[in-house]
Amino acid sequence: MPTYARAPMSFVKGEGVWLEADDGRRYMDLGAGIAVNSLGHANPVLIEALTEQASKIWHLSNLYEIGPQGELADRLVEATFADTVFFTNSGTEACELAVKMARKHHHDKGAPERVEIVTFEGCFHGRSSAAIAASGAEKMVGGFGPVLGGFVQVPWADHDALRAAVTDRTAAVLIEPVMGEGGIKVVPDHCLKGLRDLCDETGALLVFDEVQCGVGRTGKLFAHEWAGVSPDAMMVAKGIGGGFPIGAVLATEAAASGMVVGTHGSTYGGNPLACAVGAKVVEIIDDEEFLGHVRRVGGRLRQRLEGLVASHPKVFAGVRGSGLMLGLESRVPAGDFVKKGFEAGVMLVPAAEDVLRLLPPLNITEDEVDAAAALIDEAANLMEEAAK
Ligand SMILES: *Cc1c(COP(=O)(O)O)cnc(C)c1O
Repeated sequence: MPTYARAPMSFVKGEGVWLEADDGRRYMDLGAGIAVNSLGHANPVLIEALTEQASKIWHLSNLYEIGPQGELADRLVEATFADTVFFTNSGTEACELAVKMARKHHHDKGAPERVEIVTFEGCFHGRSSAAIAASGAEKMVGGFGPVLGGFVQVPWADHDALRAAVTDRTAAVLIEPVMGEGGIKVVPDHCLKGLRDLCDETGALLVFDEVQCGVGRTGKLFAHEWAGVSPDAMMVAKGIGGGFPIGAVLATEAAASGMVVGTHGSTYGGNPLACAVGAKVVEIIDDEEFLGHVRRVGGRLRQRLEGLVASHPKVFAGVRGSGLMLGLESRVPAGDFVKKGFEAGVMLVPAAEDVLRLLPPLNITEDEVDAAAALIDEAANLMEEAAK
């Protein structure tokens, strides 16, 4: 179905931060499959993890113990606030479960009226019926029939509206600590702390969607760690698979208390191939030296981008973001600049508010960061020439 506006490029090979097209041209991939190829294309360590598992068992039903699934779950529980994990195949499936789990939690605690999920305008949680209802945006729900009920959207950064929205009917507050599709907007630390307090006061669960900002992207294993607060549950996907489809909901034992035998399931969720790769990804990224690298190159990339804003004031307005989840604010339509990027040999991803997203592989080197800035500089020159 023609649901995508695809760029007229076809890639045949990848290596690290580079992609090669069928015409032999090389592009620097700063989108990384939208924060998915967290350790670059064709990473030899991940190829080994995948092929080793592939030669043993591809698939096992969740009717049985799945070794790599247990290993990945143990790693995640060890490294985070969570006591328990459910594996999905995508971020949107993680959203489905987070919503179900929050409602079931309150239902089983004798508060079946607590069904509302409070979300934030501009948010993105996926494309399932629950996830588009969470977004509430007309472009997401328009034409898709009865919108799943029980979602309440609050304007971005409107603290009064938020306080009014969280009531004794609220099951959970759902938020991206760094909003991705919505334009790389970092929720300030004190706001995440305030949200934690608000949820504690009202008994609502706090659910973080770290599908895009998690797994090392901001220079901590998870973005919320910067604020020093823990959620009750968290959605993960994208970068955790390094390119292999996998998602998860992490939760405290208390938040997941309603999810007993028979309440949820998935055929492929927690598949051995996915979990073998995911366990290797987490092993590599959950490492102080590796995360230090992300912070260092993220800082360097940010500096380079600030330089581009200074040298191209008619094209760029500013820089936002955290770690290697950066947004370059564009004064021209973001989609137009992305096309100029292709001409220059660099791949960026547009986001809302005409923000150009940079989500490169986390193992990008300092030299590659400098090369990335040079390519974006070239694209900005092309843009300025075209405007003459
Ligand atoms: C991409 C994304 C999702 C949806 O993930 P899919 O794997 O595409 O279903 C959910 N939340 C956020 C923050 C995302 O960036």
